[in-house]
Amino acid sequence: MYINILRHPGPTPIPKKVQLAMNRDIFSHRSNEFVELYRETIERVKPIFGTKQDILLLPSGGTAALEAAAVNTVSAGEDVVVITVGAFGDYFVSICEKYGFHVHKLEKQWGQACTAEELQAFLQPLKDIKAVFVTYNETSTGIINPIAELAQVVRNETDALLIVDGVSCIGGSLAKMDDWGIDILVTGSQKAMMLPPGLSLVSVSDRAWKVIEENNAPSYYLNLQSYRSWAVKGMTPNTPAITLIYGLNEVCNLIEEEGGFAETVARHELMKDMVRNAMKALNIELLTEDEHASPTITAILAPEGIVLGDFLAHLKQKYHLDFAGGLGHLQGKIFRFGHMGYCFPSDILQAISLMEAALQDFSYEFEPGAGVLAAHKVFLAAHCK
Ligand SMILES: *Cc1c(COP(=O)(O)O)cnc(C)c1O
Repeated sequence: MYINILRHPGPTPIPKKVQLAMNRDIFSHRSNEFVELYRETIERVKPIFGTKQDILLLPSGGTAALEAAAVNTVSAGEDVVVITVGAFGDYFVSICEKYGFHVHKLEKQWGQACTAEELQAFLQPLKDIKAVFVTYNETSTGIINPIAELAQVVRNETDALLIVDGVSCIGGSLAKMDDWGIDILVTGSQKAMMLPPGLSLVSVSDRAWKVIEENNAPSYYLNLQSYRSWAVKGMTPNTPAITLIYGLNEVCNLIEEEGGFAETVARHELMKDMVRNAMKALNIELLTEDEHASPTITAILAPEGIVLGDFLAHLKQKYHLDFAGGLGHLQGKIFRFGHMGYCFPSDILQAISLMEAALQDFSYEFEPGAGVLAAHKVFLAAHCK
């Protein structure tokens, strides 16, 4: 008998209160009860996106929402820039290519972020760019791109829309969609939003709506204008993920209980520092520098002398601690420690202590307790006198 300790960068654990909230009887999505739930929930999610714009709810995974952002704004043959710093940036490239956009790919080595200077230099010789696509938090490498700075470059250098994939960080990291000048911000339910998979959230700026109105999106289910016209009535064009919307409203309660969204963001920053300091104390290498390190997921290299696949399997089998492996060419080289959503400093201490146990099983040389102590010091400095 055991509980699987899921420390993946999505899907992530669901809070008991959210599970219970989702256990309500279902009602019609054309009822007054639904309209009330929908309107209330949307208002409460806006601060998480940092926007006054509406939040549209799609009954889909994050990928469909990325696809909606692309197909509603750009037409085949038009020029776009896609910034890719890992597997999910490449995802955006694939979506854009599938729809026949002319993609200018700004590609960075996996483990690095894209800087404002690089984007500026890349944009300079280009003309008539319709949109710039970028991943906010690259889930495959644990990098968070400096979105505020990148947005400023896009605003200054082009008339392009800025379309941001926030799937693995919205809900756990700061977003100021309106202030930063993001045109479309997208996230999904099953990462930092503490929900099961199946709901995606999309917000659109006024500038982007103007473009969307003039674009003949070749998509029916993902047509954002139809979501917008139904949202006016407090509804969605087709059957929404009603159960997940109850859950989303409860997620907003939990954030309120924590003291507001700023506290939620601070908790993620703290967990990031705890994990990174622990790995340094154990002499285990991190894939990324501190500067652009993700607050929601940390990519960690195989401890020296250890076959990573065996280590991860052992951790899961003996200690029930479940980390995610690497993607693409980083498979077998890194593992990914998810610390987003329903995850707390105490969970970090637990995971590091179990990791140390497995390291000892593998005869890795280290000072027992060094990782836990390093993480705990970060916690004490933040929370105790
Ligand atoms: C998980 C993820 C996606 C894909 O979301 P799905 O819900 O699996 O479709 C897209 N982008 C990023 C950054 C992700 O982490």
